[in-house]
Order: sequence, then structure tokens, then C-alpha cells
Amino acid sequence: MYDLQKVIIIGGGPTGLAAAIRLAQHNKLNPVIYELRNPETAGIGGSLGIPANGVRILHRLDLWNIILPRSVDITKTVLHSTSGSVLSEVDIASEAKQRTGFGYLRINRVDLVECLREGTQKYQIPIHYDKKVTSIDDRGDSVTVTFSDGTSDTASLLLGCDGIHSAVRKMHVDPGVAPVYSGISAISSIVDDVINRDPNDTDCLHSTITPHGMLATAPCAGKQIFWFFSKEVPLPKGTSSADVRDGWLLHRQKELADCRSSLSNVLDCVHGQWGEYLRQLVDASRDVHFYPHYRLPLGGRWFLPSDAPQGSPRVLLMGDAAHAVQPHAGQGVALALEDVLLLSGLLAQYQAGDCTTLGEVFGRFDRLRRPRIQRINEVALRNGRMRRNQSPWSVWCKEWYMWIMLHVNRFWGMSMSGVLNGDVLYDVEAELKQPDRDG
Ligand SMILES: Cc1cc2nc3c(=O)[nH]c(=O)nc-3n(C[C@H](O)[C@H](O)[C@H](O)COP(=O)(O)OP(=O)(O)OC[C@H]3O[C@@H](n4cnc5c(N)ncnc54)[C@H](O)[C@@H]3O)c2cc1C
Repeated sequence: MYDLQKVIIIGGGPTGLAAAIRLAQHNKLNPVIYELRNPETAGIGGSLGIPANGVRILHRLDLWNIILPRSVDITKTVLHSTSGSVLSEVDIASEAKQRTGFGYLRINRVDLVECLREGTQKYQIPIHYDKKVTSIDDRGDSVTVTFSDGTSDTASLLLGCDGIHSAVRKMHVDPGVAPVYSGISAISSIVDDVINRDPNDTDCLHSTITPHGMLATAPCAGKQIFWFFSKEVPLPKGTSSADVRDGWLLHRQKELADCRSSLSNVLDCVHGQWGEYLRQLVDASRDVHFYPHYRLPLGGRWFLPSDAPQGSPRVLLMGDAAHAVQPHAGQGVALALEDVLLLSGLLAQYQAGDCTTLGEVFGRFDRLRRPRIQRINEVALRNGRMRRNQSPWSVWCKEWYMWIMLHVNRFWGMSMSGVLNGDVLYDVEAELKQPDRDG
């Protein structure tokens, strides 16, 4: 039965905006977006890395010409020792480019959100700001959402794209699931221009592992540089992981000050031109932000089966609202974009009469996405361990190993491309061609 027309999207971040564009473009639906914040604050944040699997989807969303001028094409990562020497240089893009046509982009979150908003204009998709959800009523044949200003809206489908602290999840789909603190937090800033910057160094990520965390820099479009210092930070005393926002809000200023002071100690131990450059970057930073890193436990519900007779569930979680992983795999946005393409493809099958209910669509979405999310979650957990406290001896061994590998590879004329894995080659649309074994 085809009864889809209007789709309510809660959340105007990367997932919500991309979903709106795709559903208008490919499924000819009428999305309407409701965002909690106002247009100025809804896009804030640092800089994001998007690997080939996500970049390919931005291209399919027809956003290429908008995204490209506001992003940077990254080719390699350079690892520095604390003494300032180069330990390894890894090509992170050329093989993916060769095999998919797409490399690795970095873009400021505010610019990504701006580009996606521009993309919604082509389809005249309305975005309503300052909208706080107070209730969701899924009646099996339609769903109604009510907001704190007394207004409400009804549609045949509601997508909860409202991030890791999702109200749609807490209020309706799975109130029992709460974000878990990873034990790692970061401070970061975007600096407008740095005197000491090598003018040829516009396409590399740089990092250093220290016994007390990881320091890294990335170029942004224009002359900006993004830096972050990611380290182990225990939960503030008297806070539980579940307190999430309020707990950290109370302690944020103290944690920020502690991280800055520990960064200053770490910087004293990083030498050479690299150390000098880092100190200059940090000194030039005006707004330094503190982010505790959370993830959602795997296995939570993404939709609530309908108990209405002959009804079908009408509410689905997507992006971070469904499956936020720690940011250490750099795949959050790409996973969200994959969700969007997969849902759109499954809805197209439903529109063509291949599935009979939205419940079937949601069930298939769930089965196809879980293994991928589990895999990226493992990568993020593994990468997160690099930020934990470790002994100077362990850092020293890792530095020597990297240094030897670099020189062996140089001797044999090879570039290190060890970070290329199937994750960035993954094409979510290929899933649509698989037979549904469990359905
Ligand atoms: C420090 C850090 C670094 C990261 N680095 C990377 C990276 O390099 N690469 C990468 O791919 N990913 C990265 N991520 C993850 C990435 O930011 C997320 O995966 C991505 O933003 C998810 O998009 P989303 O739209 O699902 O959620 P969000 O970006 O959280 O957007 C949710 C939107 O919903 C709105 N909202 C919230 N509640 C409500 C409500 N009740 N009603 C209406 N609207 C609501 C919010 O205001 C927001 O606009 C990082 C995350 C962090 C914290």
C-alpha cells in the first residue's frame, strides 16, 4: 500500500538535512524539518573529516558543487614524534580515489550544515527552528508530533534525526537507552591563520601521540587550521554517565581549564619546529571548546513495533539518534549519509509495491545496518585507546616501530597505505541488491 507523502524530520543536523534532500529528490516526498535550536547555533562545532564512503554520497545528493569550495581534499596523515621528527607518512586517499572516484574531505561542521541547508532550498523544504518536541503519537496509520509552543503536525512518517541525546528516542522509541561516556574528552579550536605554517602543507593531517593523549591538526578551507587535544578524562565526581549534559555543564569550565593546563604540560615536551608550531597554534586560539565523547550502546531499538490493529510503525531513528559511535573512527557523518541512502532506496521499493508496510521497510533497514554499525563501533573503540594514558616506554616503542616502518618502506620505494580498508570503499546502495535473507 502506498500512503506516503509528507515526512516529518526532527533535527536539522547532517542526518536530518540529508534525509530531507534525498527523500524529496529520489522519492518525491514532501519533508518538513523541525530543529530545536535557532539557525545561528544549530550548526556550531569544529571540523569534520568525511572519508570516501561519505563523500560519494554527498556527490549522489547532488551537493558536489556546493561542498567542494568549502572543503579541503586531504591526501595524507603525518605522524610526528615528541622530538619533532617525522615518524610516518600515510597516504589515506589515492587508493580510495582510484577505486571509488572519491577521497577524504575535511569541512567545518558549520559549513557542512550550511551546504546541506542550501541543498534543501532547491526542493523548497521548510525548516522550522526553535521547535521543542513535547509528545509523539503514533497511531499506526499516521503520526502526530506536538511542540512546546502548542503547535503540532501530522504525517505518514516521522524520522528522529535529533542526535545522540534524541528526544524522539527518549520520548517514544527506546527510553531505556542512554549515551555512555567513553572516558575520553577533547579540547579543540579553529585558528584563522598561523604565521609559521608551511604554505605547501595544505592537504595533510598531522598528529603526535604522547603519554597523556593525542594532539592533531587539520587544514580547513581558506587559511584556517583546526587542532584538537584528545585525552583520558574521568567523569567528574558526583556525576554518572547518564547525567550526560547537565553533569558536564556544571563541570565544563573546570574540565576545560584542566585540559588546557595538561595540554600546556604536554606541549612543553614536544620539541622541534613541530612543537613550536603547535604552541603557536594554541596561543593564537580564541575560542577553545571542550567535548566529552559519548557513544550509544549497541542493540537499542530504532523503531517501536505498532500495536494498532493493521497499523504499522511510523517512527524511525537515524544517524546519531540511532547509533552514535565514538568520534574516533571519523565515520559519524558518513554513517548518517549511508542511513539516508539506504532508507531512501528501501522506501522506493515500498513505493513500487515491493514491501507492503513501513514495518517491513524499517525491519530491513535495521537488519542491513546493524553489522556495519557494529564494525565501525569496533574501529572507533580501538582508535579511542590511542588517546588513553600510556607509559612513556609504550609511546617510545610505538615511535620506534613507526620510524623503522617508515624507513623500510622508503628503502623499498613504497608509500604506506595501511589505513585503507574496506570501510571507506563500502557502497551502501549495493545492500539494496542483496536478497533479504532474514525478513
Ligand atoms: C568532538 C567530535 C568530533 C567528531 N568528529 C567527526 C569527524 O571527524 N567525522 C565524522 O564523520 N563525524 C565526527 N563526529 C560525529 C558527527 O558529528 C556526528 O556523527 C554527526 O554530526 C551526526 O549527525 P546527526 O544529524 O545525526 O546528529 P547531530 O549532528 O547531533 O544533529 C542533530 C540535530 O538535531 C537537533 N536536535 C537535538 N535535539 C532536538 C530536538 N529535541 N528537536 C529538534 N531538533 C533537535 C540538534 O540541534 C542538531 O541540529 C564527531 C563528533 C564529535 C562530538
